[in-house]
Amino acid sequence: VKSGFDYIKETEPTIDAFITLSEEKALAEAKKIDESPRSDLTPLAGIPIGIKDNIVTKAVLTTAASKMLYNFNPIYSATAVEKLESAGLVSMGKLNMDEFAMGSSTETSYFKKTKNAWDQTKVPGGSSGGSAASVAAGQVPASLGSDTGGSIRQPASFNGIVGMKPTYGRVSRYGLIAFSSSLDQIGPMTRTVEDNAMILNAISGHDAKDSTSSRRDTPDFTNLIGQDIKGMKIGVPKEFMGEGVHPDIRQAVKEAVKTFEALGATVDEVSLPNAVYGVEVYYIIASSEASSNLQRFDGIRYGYRSENISNLEDVYVNSRSEGFGSEVKRRIMLGTFSLSAGFYDAYFRKAGQVRTLIVNDFKKVFENYDLILGPVSPTVAFEFGAAQDDPITAYMRDILTIPVNLAGLPGMSVPGGFSEGLPIGIQLIGNHFDEEKMYQAAYAFE
Ligand code: GLN
Repeated sequence: VKSGFDYIKETEPTIDAFITLSEEKALAEAKKIDESPRSDLTPLAGIPIGIKDNIVTKAVLTTAASKMLYNFNPIYSATAVEKLESAGLVSMGKLNMDEFAMGSSTETSYFKKTKNAWDQTKVPGGSSGGSAASVAAGQVPASLGSDTGGSIRQPASFNGIVGMKPTYGRVSRYGLIAFSSSLDQIGPMTRTVEDNAMILNAISGHDAKDSTSSRRDTPDFTNLIGQDIKGMKIGVPKEFMGEGVHPDIRQAVKEAVKTFEALGATVDEVSLPNAVYGVEVYYIIASSEASSNLQRFDGIRYGYRSENISNLEDVYVNSRSEGFGSEVKRRIMLGTFSLSAGFYDAYFRKAGQVRTLIVNDFKKVFENYDLILGPVSPTVAFEFGAAQDDPITAYMRDILTIPVNLAGLPGMSVPGGFSEGLPIGIQLIGNHFDEEKMYQAAYAFE
């Protein structure tokens, strides 16, 4: 833990991954572990980890990268964080992200711009950009991210690490600052597949405090690691391999197909005809849920309150106007619009119907296949500023990750090559609660 902080301090001026370091607390925990009898130690005891700053940590500043929460010290920890602590992992601090997890480049953070670990002129991806860059730069061996529409997988892909978005319900969302409650999931980001499975072991399981968390038993996610994948059936959706995907990335997926075939899997082209509507559906559903979830930031209960107030309405209006950044405001306006009387049927209800079509597309493929394979992102890490110019173009970049959230499926990014020195991520999508098989295939591929 101590040498971890030394290395973090050496590299932070280049990477800017952390919003808050919890050195004193971490060193105290490490000392306690050092002084415990060996027989009391869990296998992961003393391993450092970083936490995305939208996951609440008791008495440690938690901002969701927003001015709105610049001074928010939670009075409790998220279930995932409590579970990590009881597994003996030591939290080193809180990692930068897009404000309230809205974005794909970590540039909407109120605090700082995190740099890609491979090339500091490029974005780290997002919204879990700090979580990805920190692991890739070697500051921490693992981190937690959250994925609402690709926010674990895309930054993992941009930084050449392993990122898992578990099945919806696998990991408790209690203490994850809600963005879009029907899509959000916490998941691990690590350098290797096996590390990833071990962290998922630590954070999974039913939680009475999250009514959407699953009651299924949690398997040991390392169970199938090392077993061969002969006979595994993999589908590559043709919609994921179109012109919009950079040729180097399509080539990397083709190479991955060859590797899987050489390992004994059979790979076929499949179709997800409605996945192309994923982004449109997502921006209605995610923004609608966000507009409702973010109502709690009223200048009274949490964080920032405007100085400039003379009546109650000013408290709300001025605190929210000054506390939220422009991307967050855009989502609140979009969501409020789609939920309004007169527009609800045309937008929110319709989006729900198309979401069902997307769910059914995946169901059909999983009747005959074990896994789906494709790219994570149509491009590798891009320049700073590129996402800000034109929101619609930026939103479309998430077209390969968003359908997975809409269907509640598990999806992961594993490193699968380079384009001009920048990492390419390969996406594996599993059936509901089939993470074990994804780790088996990813480990064989790694
Ligand atoms: N980039 C997407 C968005 O801006 C997804 C973010 C996420 O998964 N949290 O909403």
